[in-house]
Amino acid sequence: MSIAANLSKLKKELDSYKAKLIAVSKTKSNEEIMEAYKAGQRAFGENQVQELVEKQEQLPKDIDWHLIGHLQTNKVKYIAPFVSLIHSVDSLKLLIEINKQAAKNNKVIDCLLQVYIADEDTKFGLGYDETIELLRSEEYAQLKNIRIVGVMGIATNTKVEKQIRDEFQELRVFFEGLKQSFFRTEDYFKEISMGMSGDYTIALEEGSTMIRVGSTIFGSRIIPHWKNN
Ligand SMILES: *Cc1c(COP(=O)(O)O)cnc(C)c1O
Repeated sequence: MSIAANLSKLKKELDSYKAKLIAVSKTKSNEEIMEAYKAGQRAFGENQVQELVEKQEQLPKDIDWHLIGHLQTNKVKYIAPFVSLIHSVDSLKLLIEINKQAAKNNKVIDCLLQVYIADEDTKFGLGYDETIELLRSEEYAQLKNIRIVGVMGIATNTKVEKQIRDEFQELRVFFEGLKQSFFRTEDYFKEISMGMSGDYTIALEEGSTMIRVGSTIFGSRIIPHWKNN
């Protein structure tokens, strides 16, 4: 099926939910992205800073670019001028740098805290305790140029549906707890970014507000091993 047909099928599935679709375009060409763009898609996700910056320069300026992969502190400056949402904030140090670069650009950058929910050695994400510690810290309280709008999680890569469902459920419950404790009056704290090609149906059922879907739209990726992420 074509990219446009894949998108329209996905959109139909999304109809009964309030979730937003982030089209994950990593490793995909500008032509492929334009095909999705012409079909009306505007939110795209990338996981590499350099690739994201190149695509942003070359593609239409009304695209909303989401960074979904691990972000190194020294690369924040490259995306700060244009990024719509950073899904992968996994340390206070990174948040402080995002705040600094956002201030330089006279803006506020929206961020999600990436919370570690999988039962595997995935490299990135904050533990539950670490997340709470971050939100309680004085350093965080002083950051005026970032806004935490929710959480992001990646479920275990498994065929066991119950496990994936439990992990998503846990993230939703954790989100609700954070909302009560830290963001009760902040309407902007409302996003739960969870669900990829293999598990977005479960994620939607468990309350996802943003699904990050790549291969279901663009076809499978052939990823050079050094870029594997
Ligand atoms: C690649 C990637 C996705 C999309 O993966 P698909 O299985 O192709 O849908 C979603 N989230 C993150 C963080 C990714 O790196």
